[in-house]
Amino acid sequence: MFVRQLNHYSKIAWDDQTRDFYSVDSSSYILKPAVVAFPRNERDIIMILRYATKNKISVTARGAGTGLVGSALGKGIILDMMHLNKIKVGPGYFEAGSGVLKGQLDKELEKRGRFLGPDPSVGPFCTIGGMVATNASGSHSLKYGSIIDNLIQVTIARSSGSVITLPNESGISRKILKLLKPEIQLRFPQVSKNSCGYRIDKIKAKSDLQKIIVGSEGTLGIIISAKLRTFRLPKEKLLTILAYKTMKNAVSEVPEILKLGPSAVEIIDRNIVKHVNMRISRKPNCLLFVEFDENLTENKKNIQKLTSGKIIKMIADEGKIKQWWSIRNLALSYSLKSISKEEIMLPAIEDATVVVEKLPVLLNVISKLASKYKIKVIVYGHAGNGNLHIRPILKRGNSHTIKKIASEFFLKVISIGGSITGEHGDGLARSEFVKLQYGSEVYSIFKKIKKEFDPKNILNPDKIVTRKTTITKNLSLSRL
Ligand SMILES: Cc1cc2nc3c(=O)[nH]c(=O)nc-3n(C[C@H](O)[C@H](O)[C@H](O)COP(=O)(O)OP(=O)(O)OC[C@H]3O[C@@H](n4cnc5c(N)ncnc54)[C@H](O)[C@@H]3O)c2cc1C
Repeated sequence: MFVRQLNHYSKIAWDDQTRDFYSVDSSSYILKPAVVAFPRNERDIIMILRYATKNKISVTARGAGTGLVGSALGKGIILDMMHLNKIKVGPGYFEAGSGVLKGQLDKELEKRGRFLGPDPSVGPFCTIGGMVATNASGSHSLKYGSIIDNLIQVTIARSSGSVITLPNESGISRKILKLLKPEIQLRFPQVSKNSCGYRIDKIKAKSDLQKIIVGSEGTLGIIISAKLRTFRLPKEKLLTILAYKTMKNAVSEVPEILKLGPSAVEIIDRNIVKHVNMRISRKPNCLLFVEFDENLTENKKNIQKLTSGKIIKMIADEGKIKQWWSIRNLALSYSLKSISKEEIMLPAIEDATVVVEKLPVLLNVISKLASKYKIKVIVYGHAGNGNLHIRPILKRGNSHTIKKIASEFFLKVISIGGSITGEHGDGLARSEFVKLQYGSEVYSIFKKIKKEFDPKNILNPDKIVTRKTTITKNLSLSRL
């Protein structure tokens, strides 16, 4: 049994309990691995990769397992990166092992008055490796960018076991640059957030080559460490909570609000609002959270002048601001509270992104799908980035329609210039639609990139580049 040999290279576990634990992440998929390895350092990773390549066994890296699309699940070896947990903070940047938890990093940065821009709603629980591998972002990415806008350098182990730091001048860098043609830019959605496929649109020069790893979901290399830039913590903030009669009213106002330079613009619909403890007589159908972290006096006046929504709160107290953000960040849990035992929450279409001017069109697409398939839909998300988390609720007996609904939805999103995923990535839920998003020319470049980094296809196979349909395979209805 190969697991016994692996034991020479790293601490491993293959008992049923461990394998069951690692057979799920925060998605609705389930896939039981053969063995879980806990590398202590770079050397362990190299040895495992050499062994896996020689024996053609798949290797899937795992951070904290908070991913929502099944991208950290695999049949072969799972690499839990928890021991790569060192942090070095420098002026304007930090360098962290891939297993560092965001919460651990936040504390270190806060001591120095700094923070990392991308702030997923899952908060402190995700890892740096997972964030880089999914191009994570959050509410404040509106002002501070996604991971792809902040990554300075990344060190990875390729499937051969060779370790490289990108950007660099190596042979692989030259080969990747040769594959990129200016016209491929046009095949990429012109949106502010995109976690679909390999982000070659962001590679303009050799100095951008680290970006090939961003959003690559462990398919090109195992991230050992990453260097990212940091920002100075804002001295003051103003959070404005605006209430609207309809979601459409709210999103139609977003382009004008963006002109004021907010640090975050987030939206929740009535399904989430009903859980908010507010002392007002009738709960609104929709709330918009608009935060500023500079020019507060001016912005306070500007937002009052601009909005047609009802201002229900203007908060400057940091503690209270945090409380309101926790409501927004709990939107997924509140959504789960809204479904009965006879219903399931459909995965896969939860993360589309369009340009903000197209948000009303995206809402139309959603309501048409809802009436066609007789589904209830919960919507919340990063309105300022045009990135909506759409949570369709359907009757358990109708689960066979999942792929149909997803395919129809993705076609519409692409037809209005959007991305099928703004932050969560492709994973088991969306990899089969990557070709639909970009067309065959770009997709064939993705295949060449995959081959260049991982010629034997052992790194997280069937994620991003795949011939298989995985959207419903391995879905666990009891986890929906
Ligand atoms: C309640 C909730 C809210 C969320 N909100 C957001 C949000 O606002 N924004 C957002 O972007 N995401 C959000 N997510 C999704 C998730 O938190 C992010 O995708 C996060 O970046 C995943 O990090 P992780 O460490 O848990 O990675 P995992 O789930 O363990 O892995 C995710 C992917 O990264 C790969 N990976 C992990 N480590 C490495 C490594 N060292 N080398 C190579 N590949 C690696 C895995 O193979 C997998 O493909 C949310 C999730 C939940 C449950």
